Amino acid sequence: ARKYVVKNYFKGVPKREDFEIVEYDLPPLKDGEILIKTEWISVDPYQRAYNKLSKIPYDQFGLQVGVVKESRNPKFPVGTKVVSHKGWCDYTIAKDGVQASPLDHLYILPDFKGLSPSLAVGALGLIGLTAYAGFLEICKPKAGETVVVTGAAGAVGSLVGQIAKIKGCKVIGFAGSDDKVEWLEKELGFDKALNYKTVDVAKALKEAAPKGVDCYFDNVGGEISSIIINQMNKFGRVSVCGSISSYNEEGSMPKATILQPAIISQNLMIQGFLVSEWRDLMPKVVPELVDWIKSGQLKAAEHVTEGFDNIFNAFVGMLAGENKGKAVVKV
Ligand code: NDP
Repeated sequence: ARKYVVKNYFKGVPKREDFEIVEYDLPPLKDGEILIKTEWISVDPYQRAYNKLSKIPYDQFGLQVGVVKESRNPKFPVGTKVVSHKGWCDYTIAKDGVQASPLDHLYILPDFKGLSPSLAVGALGLIGLTAYAGFLEICKPKAGETVVVTGAAGAVGSLVGQIAKIKGCKVIGFAGSDDKVEWLEKELGFDKALNYKTVDVAKALKEAAPKGVDCYFDNVGGEISSIIINQMNKFGRVSVCGSISSYNEEGSMPKATILQPAIISQNLMIQGFLVSEWRDLMPKVVPELVDWIKSGQLKAAEHVTEGFDNIFNAFVGMLAGENKGKAVVKV
C-alpha cells in the first residue's frame, strides 16, 4: 500500500518535500476490520491548518471514499462503498467505532440517488453539513435579507450562497478571480459577486448592499471580514467558519482590527463553530441536500484532479484558489 506521510511543519505554502509517499505492506485483517481501496480523496484547508497542531511525522489524514475489498466485519461486506477519515492512501485497513479525532469515522455511503459517491467528501458530507448548519443554524436567515459570503466559489461558500438563494435572500459573494465571479453570477445565481483581489472591498460592498448586510458567512477571516462586519445592520449575524487567509502564516497573530464598536452599536451576534458538533444532523441534512441537487436547485460543483501522485498538487492548488466548488482527487 502507499500513503502520504507529513515529515515537516510547513513553512508558508506546503512544499512537496514536506511529504513522503511511503510504500509498506498491510498486515492481515483482524476480526472486525475491513480492507478499503480508495476511490476519492479530499483535499481541504484544515489539512493545512492542523499541521501546526499535529505531531510530526504523521500520516496525512482526511476524508475519503473507498470500496471494501476484504472484510472481517459482517456490517461491511465486500463491495460496500464506505466513507472514512483514512486520508491520502491507496489502500487502508479500518475498524468500526474507533475514533482518533472528532472527524474520524467510518460509515457506509448513504443512498445518493445516483449522484457521484465523491460528493460524500463534499456537498453530501461534512462540507454540505458545514454550509447547511453553519449558515442556517447560526445566521437564521430570513427571506429578503442580504447575505455576504467570502470564499464564495469554494466548496463551502458556493453551497452557502445557493442555500441562501433557496431561502429567498439577496446574496453577495467574494472570490479571488474574475472567472469565479462570472461563474457565481451566471451559473450559481448569486445576485452579485466581487473579486476581492481587484475591487475596493468597502466601496464595492456599499454599492452592492446599499441597505447593509444582515448575515455574513466568514470563510476567510482577516481584513476583508473586518470590512464586511463594519457594514452590518442592527442584529446582524456572523457565522465564523474558517480563517484561510491566515493558514499559511506563521508565528505571531495577524494584526488586529478593532471590531468592538461595530459589534456593540449594531447588536451583532458572532459565532464560530466546528462542524463536528453537528454530526448528528447528517441523516436529516443529507437527504434534503440530495433532493435539492436532484431538483436542480443546488449545484454541487467539483474540481477533480486525477491520480494518487497528484494529491499534493491538488492540495496546494486548492490553497491557491484553483478550485471552483469542492477540490477532490480521483485515485
Ligand atoms: P475552498 O473550496 O473554499 O478552498 C479554499 C479557497 O480559499 C480557495 O479556493 C481560495 O479561493 C480561498 N483562499 C485561499 N487563500 C485565501 C486568502 N488568503 N484569502 C481569501 N481566500 C483565500 O475550501 P473549503 O470550502 O473546504 O473551506 C472554506 C473555509 O471553511 C476554510 O477556511 C475552511 O477551513 C473552513 N471550514 C470550516 C469548517 C468548520 O467546521 N468550521 C468545516 C469545513 C471548512 P479564492 O480564489 O476565492 O481566493
